[in-house]
Amino acid sequence: MQIITGKTQLFGVIGHPVSHSLSPVMHNAVLRHLQLDYAYAAFPIAPENLKMAIAGLGMSGVQGLNVTIPHKQSVMSCLSSISTVAQQVGAVNTLTMGAKGWEGTNTDVEGFMAPLLKLNRDWAQVNPVILGNGGAARAVVVACYQLGCPEIVVVGRNFDKLAQFQQSWGDRRIKERLNTLPWEALPALIPQATLLVNTTPIGMAPHPHQSPVSEALMAQVTPTVIAYDLIYTPRPTQFLKLAKRHGLKTIDGLEMLVQQGAASLKIWLKQEDIPVKIMRQALIDYFGQS
Ligand code: NAP
Repeated sequence: MQIITGKTQLFGVIGHPVSHSLSPVMHNAVLRHLQLDYAYAAFPIAPENLKMAIAGLGMSGVQGLNVTIPHKQSVMSCLSSISTVAQQVGAVNTLTMGAKGWEGTNTDVEGFMAPLLKLNRDWAQVNPVILGNGGAARAVVVACYQLGCPEIVVVGRNFDKLAQFQQSWGDRRIKERLNTLPWEALPALIPQATLLVNTTPIGMAPHPHQSPVSEALMAQVTPTVIAYDLIYTPRPTQFLKLAKRHGLKTIDGLEMLVQQGAASLKIWLKQEDIPVKIMRQALIDYFGQS
């Protein structure tokens, strides 16, 4: 058991609500493992208090913060600097206290890419099809762009939101590679897709038996395809069960969750080697208990 003393330093996560956040579980596990005198806490901050609260947390000596819904965009106006990747995504999930105040970046992109980079693929030949056009899809688009995928297709169910998504990119190079299509285009896209990413909540509780891709469509996917679901509970989702049944390589959302957290810690601790295994196991153990 870690002893919190007067010297213990603090990291944390801000959100509203934030009590469901898994970040304290995995971060405290790895900080304990590294025997560092840090603790990680969750701060529920209502949107109207955001500016005052993060200024106060900074003045109280908090060294680093993760940012979750609904603050990922609104926090951007409270920062002294914003990294290129966070500007590309249009959202910040990691704050670090710098000389001039909070500096913002986005580690969701690195978190999403980490398990893909372990696979031996020629990304210039990979055609990603991303299901859903919400917040998480933005980080996935930037990651696919960074990997070098030549055309990135995003499929959504709401025409207006999809058009807005297409127009929303400040970086022209990303916009040029992006193609947004209605959900109905999926059957025609599936046979050509080589990376299939679910960024919708389809398959989460209370509907764990649903999949964004039907069994019949999954049967048309070539076996070299990677199926990646951002959902981390249940594990595996119905989408990944179907993908596995058809011989596809599968990646679940737990890996992205752990890797984006590890990427934040790398920045805060100025240390490349983060024992990701400890973070992953802490979450698996936690899911087993809850
Ligand atoms: P979000 O901003 O609400 O976006 C969800 C997207 O899914 C929207 O485009 C929404 O369409 C679409 N959608 C919802 N229900 C649908 C349905 N029945 N059919 C078709 N499309 C549907 O949420 P988010 O923040 O992007 O998160 C999405 C998922 O990713 C969640 O399950 C979340 O837990 C997961 N996630 C995981 C990680 C990780 O680290 N593993 C990180 C972030 C998010 P409309 O706009 O038309 O409603």
